[in-house]
Amino acid sequence: MLNIVIFGAPGSGKGTQSERIVEKYGIDHISTGDVLRAEIKAGTELGCMAKKLIDNGQLIPDALMLDILSAKLDTLVGSKGVIFDGFPRTIAQAEALKEMLAAREQEVTAMIELDVPEEELMTRLIKRGQESGRADDNEVTIKKRLVVYHDQTAPLKEWYEKEGKRCYINGLGELDRIFADIVAAIDARI
Ligand code: ATP
Ligand code: MG
Repeated sequence: MLNIVIFGAPGSGKGTQSERIVEKYGIDHISTGDVLRAEIKAGTELGCMAKKLIDNGQLIPDALMLDILSAKLDTLVGSKGVIFDGFPRTIAQAEALKEMLAAREQEVTAMIELDVPEEELMTRLIKRGQESGRADDNEVTIKKRLVVYHDQTAPLKEWYEKEGKRCYINGLGELDRIFADIVAAIDARI
């Protein structure tokens, strides 16, 4: 089983590179952001609550996120592995993921960290907001998301470093070069 955590700030390219990883390794993709956006679109109670938080740049509470994730994992049958995109975003989520995988006699194979400078993140997200109309891709909300990222999510770099899982990738430049670096990092661990 190949369990990859793709990690990085908002706009670091997690979704884009995840699609390529899925295609190459034949694993399943769980994007917690996509799951939440689907709930919003469907107008569920969960979606309603998530929308308020997302539009304000905040995270969804850990307990709720964990329920969503474990429900999603349970839907996978005969899976060759998973790429976790947008999860974990807090240390509590990382610890819970470790336990969840351990209960299935699995572990995280690698944490792929996409490093992108802040000015570039801002440029990419503003462009994405204009092209896709994604409500949280506006300057005010992006700034809040970056603060939340630095406070709550960035500490996971050290956490995964201690776990011996962290793989640093320069996320600035050609998509093909970034993907090649990711493949090299994964292949070194399987
Ligand atoms: P990228 O551009 O790299 O794909 P992103 O940060 O722009 O990343 P998503 O991963 O799609 O976007 O997440 C969108 C929002 O959904 C987050 O800002 C947050 O409010 C919520 N969210 C997604 N995953 C989690 C999570 N694991 N825990 C808490 N909230 C989450
Ligand atoms: Mg995404």
